[in-house]
Amino acid sequence: MRILVQGAGVAGLTAAHELAGRGAEVLVVEKNPSIGGEASWRAGGMLAPFCERESGEQAVIALGQGAAEWWQAALPGLVTFNGTLVVAPPRDTAELRRFAARTERYSNHSADAIAALEPDLAGRFRAGLFFAEEAHLDPRQALEELHAKLTATGVRFRFGCTEAPQNERFDRVVDCTGMAARQHLPDLRGVRGEMLYLETREVTLARPVRLIHPRFPVYVIPRGGGRFMVGATMIESADDGPVTARSLMELLNAAYALHPAFGEARVVECSAGVRPAFPDNLPRVVEKDDTIFINGFFRHGFLMAPAFARKAADIVFADHPAKDRPHETCRQRAIA
Ligand SMILES: Cc1cc2nc3c(=O)[nH]c(=O)nc-3n(C[C@H](O)[C@H](O)[C@H](O)COP(=O)(O)OP(=O)(O)OC[C@H]3O[C@@H](n4cnc5c(N)ncnc54)[C@H](O)[C@@H]3O)c2cc1C
Repeated sequence: MRILVQGAGVAGLTAAHELAGRGAEVLVVEKNPSIGGEASWRAGGMLAPFCERESGEQAVIALGQGAAEWWQAALPGLVTFNGTLVVAPPRDTAELRRFAARTERYSNHSADAIAALEPDLAGRFRAGLFFAEEAHLDPRQALEELHAKLTATGVRFRFGCTEAPQNERFDRVVDCTGMAARQHLPDLRGVRGEMLYLETREVTLARPVRLIHPRFPVYVIPRGGGRFMVGATMIESADDGPVTARSLMELLNAAYALHPAFGEARVVECSAGVRPAFPDNLPRVVEKDDTIFINGFFRHGFLMAPAFARKAADIVFADHPAKDRPHETCRQRAIA
């Protein structure tokens, strides 16, 4: 079985891993000159199905629950199993109750319990929720390590190109091109997410902390070495241009509300990514002739890509492949 995977974001790399693991010969083509650059590079890497249920469907839990174990098996040592802490300033305790009502598998935490988990937050919040079963990873490390592992196990990569060599033939094309697949998936839309990286030695956190805020839900994720990712806005737009002043102010205000020492932190990066999403905000595997599209990961690329890589691989290996067709022909048939 020879498979062409288009796109080396989280969808493409997890699909390549799953397909190669089942014995396929895989070539990955990536438009950018190296790994990263689009939505996957900007992600928080929270593997938080229970917290995500707050703003999503029940399916988020079913589709995301095995993700941490998948990543841990693929790249041992990558995942931090430390839970998620959700806190609210005193004026927003009603919002915390609303969050709790929409979620599950948490324990209520008092100020003392919050301080025991995160000593740097001692005395700052009277109430919180702790989701002990959740995990997180560093998305950039995940993408780079997955690329290295796939290369070492024989998956070929061609960067800076969108097509396979003319003389190569593939049984299937797996399109994981994110927003670029909009021409084939007309109901795909973009949800802009802006994020920052802050650097400070004055704050230590052991896990992602979500701050409930009536206007702007925010999270701060420790990345090690004094770095923290602060994210992320949710704007109905496919614009991936620079972060706006308003979003920058809101993200910084939220980080400052979590801990005032963030006021002295260095801003080492601010950028925006566009989350590809279908109208129901759930991903899909779409089959069009010889092409299988894996797309629509919205806020849940790292959380749900493993489940959808498995779904796509099930389709590939269940079917009778169309043999000996040149890649260009497959592509034209998909467009038609
Ligand atoms: C700020 C932010 C925070 C997020 N936080 C989280 C989080 O905490 N947890 C989580 O699970 N998810 C999170 N997400 C969501 C997640 O990042 C996305 O759902 C996911 O990255 C989408 O992955 P993808 O591979 O489909 O698309 P992309 O990452 O956009 O990858 C598509 C790839 O295809 C390439 N490409 C495009 N056209 C072609 C072509 N014609 N040929 C070859 N290659 C092509 C692109 O260059 C790109 O590398 C976040 C997203 C953002 C923006």
